[in-house]
Amino acid sequence: MRTAFSFEGFVTPWEVRRQRYLYLPFTVPPGTGRIDVSYQFDEPVTAPLGMGPGNNVDIGIFDPRGLDFPEAPGFRGWSGSARREFFIAPHEATPGYIAGPLLPGRWHIVLGFERVQESGVGYRVRVSLEEGRDGGATPPAEGGSPPCRARVKGGRFLRGDLHCHSVHSDGLNTVEELARDAVAKGLDFLAVTDHNTCTHHRELERLSHLPTVLIPGEEVTTYWGHANAWGLRRLVDFRCTDEESMRALQRFVRERGGLFSINHPKCIGPPWLFDLWDGFPCMEVWQAPWRFHNWDSLERWETLLQRGLRVVAVGGSDTHSIPPARPLHPHGLGNPTTWAYVPEAEAGEEEVLAAIRRGHVFISAGPEGPRLVLQADTDGDGRFEALMGDSIVPPEGRPVRVRAAVEGGAGHRLWLLRDGVPVAIVPVERDSYVFETELDMAGSRYLRAELRGWRGRLERGEVVWALSNPIWAAGA
Ligand SMILES: [Zn+2]
Ligand SMILES: [Zn+2]
Repeated sequence: MRTAFSFEGFVTPWEVRRQRYLYLPFTVPPGTGRIDVSYQFDEPVTAPLGMGPGNNVDIGIFDPRGLDFPEAPGFRGWSGSARREFFIAPHEATPGYIAGPLLPGRWHIVLGFERVQESGVGYRVRVSLEEGRDGGATPPAEGGSPPCRARVKGGRFLRGDLHCHSVHSDGLNTVEELARDAVAKGLDFLAVTDHNTCTHHRELERLSHLPTVLIPGEEVTTYWGHANAWGLRRLVDFRCTDEESMRALQRFVRERGGLFSINHPKCIGPPWLFDLWDGFPCMEVWQAPWRFHNWDSLERWETLLQRGLRVVAVGGSDTHSIPPARPLHPHGLGNPTTWAYVPEAEAGEEEVLAAIRRGHVFISAGPEGPRLVLQADTDGDGRFEALMGDSIVPPEGRPVRVRAAVEGGAGHRLWLLRDGVPVAIVPVERDSYVFETELDMAGSRYLRAELRGWRGRLERGEVVWALSNPIWAAGA
């Protein structure tokens, strides 16, 4: 037997400003074997990248285990506005939704009003319940999937991509297509970071035999900005509406051993609108090819460094489609590539995330480079013991010897910046190039390096080809 009912309503921008999420309760009787939901709303945005006029309403669902923030114990899925319908059954569900028993009790559809025009928006949600048995389905696991078993050779810089999307949110590819492309590109690690869900994590586990470390991630997608959380195997709630709730999420991710990053803090990001910048170990300073407004993000990062915040710069391609899917953007996985130095002989997810947390990281335009490694010799013994991400104590009255090694950067220019101010700009003459100099670091906070150069024809302007993390000094 099938029962169906619907919700209809209208909200104004004024109401949305007070409450971004609307919960529509309904009862699931015992013996329900499938829930189907579809919805519509007036005048959806039609222009690409959500530009132009129109409304945008997101959807998700919670089961009777509850809605509480930030544990979200009853979370059963979210599809943003990428789909107009979804279903949940004991053994299968629409990607982005968690299959499992349809616990009897009070469920909630959640609508998220991302954008509402001045004239308001009407919505209609239809729910259909079908009788059936759970067929021995196990309840959705609390802890999620076990870690990826893939191990790669360490003792070197591993290269990877920390940001991409699959069909579990608004990407066009399966997780397997993404993982296999990462292998083909020689990436050592790949984080799949679907928006506001964790249903892709189990697929990462299933692909553990591939020679790329697959890191579970989530792009926590709020209406005030996006943040990547890596290394957790469950949902990180996304219903943040103010700085206090974002602080609660920072705690949530930190206490469970995950790594958290502000994403694409730039004009078309969408930008980061929270007035909360501290407490994030990482920032996506480079998202998609450099020309996509990454000067904006670089400037933002620099202001944090100058405030004394030690934030690790990372890169992410934010890939939403690769062949054979229809193209949505001109780049793919590894544009840019994040390189992380792993000292251990062998590396898995834990070692990769630890290297990133330490800031032993540079970013390059692609998987082939260019490479840019910044080191320092503080005690003058000729050994460059400090790597980007490390802290040094500059000796009194004696300069620090600094070394920037560039691979594959001929024709570009190497910039060394101390506390944001260029102290050296040198042409890179060969593909294998080492620049060494002595710098007074007393009283300074940090030193970092960039590789800048023209992008083809002169009128296309200058871009960054590689970017190092800072060596931190114990300055004022
Ligand atoms: Zn994003
Ligand atoms: Zn994204």
